[in-house]
Amino acid sequence: MSKQEKIFPEGMVPLAKSKFSFSCHPGVSCFMTCCRNVDMFLYPHDIIALKNCLGIRSEEFLEKYVRVVQGANPFFPSLMMKMTDVRSCPFLGPAGCTVYEHRPFSCRMYPLERGVDRTLEKGRAEEFFFLTKHEYCKGHDEEQEWTVKEWLRNQQLLFHNAMADQWAEMDTLFAKNPWAGEGAAGPRQKLAFLVCYNLDGFRDYVRQHNLLGQFKLPAARVRAVETDDEALLTFGFDWLKMVLAGMPTLQAKKKN
Ligand code: SF4
Ligand code: SF4
Repeated sequence: MSKQEKIFPEGMVPLAKSKFSFSCHPGVSCFMTCCRNVDMFLYPHDIIALKNCLGIRSEEFLEKYVRVVQGANPFFPSLMMKMTDVRSCPFLGPAGCTVYEHRPFSCRMYPLERGVDRTLEKGRAEEFFFLTKHEYCKGHDEEQEWTVKEWLRNQQLLFHNAMADQWAEMDTLFAKNPWAGEGAAGPRQKLAFLVCYNLDGFRDYVRQHNLLGQFKLPAARVRAVETDDEALLTFGFDWLKMVLAGMPTLQAKKKN
């Protein structure tokens, strides 16, 4: 076996540059089927997009639309979309998705799955895309063809993948049980929950504790963090890496 050859799970063949057929539109007989009976994990950037689309604060979004569950990470909770009483996505309307422009990562990515090899064999993380198929999904029988690159661009996934990579780093950090013996729901984990899932609460915390004034940050970054939720989330991740793992992600100002 050559040094570069990778072994993927059985049945999973990366798409590389080959094309796949897919189209999802109101004319397919399965239209909206996948928005019912769905188990959907939500990631920090999904919550930002959805609460901003709805014009509500993140606390209200968590209260109304989210279930906190124990996912794959034994040391940090995951969030899932709370389905309605009839087991459909709360954002499914009579004509389809009512938050389409702001739909979560997993709704955008289907029918692709993304895997990232972080062993850095090539000096950088490498991403792979696989075709996935729900049995009931008729979108695969449509004629429209895509390359992975075209699909990522069409679904605006480049930004979402970058945010997913940031989140994967945090998830890896949380999986190391960085709570300094406080255990689940201790003060450190509560702070991490605030940053990751309740960004409007974290914005209040940043103001109350003058967090931005404590670090050497370019003026442009300060402005971005003050006005933009994704910039605030990235700052929050840097802050957590420093607080929980002592990483040099932020530089404290010297005290007079
Ligand atoms: S967010 Fe939209 S696309 Fe995703 S499951 Fe809900 S209704 Fe369907
Ligand atoms: S099942 Fe497939 S084709 Fe049907 S609505 Fe969902 S994604 Fe589109």
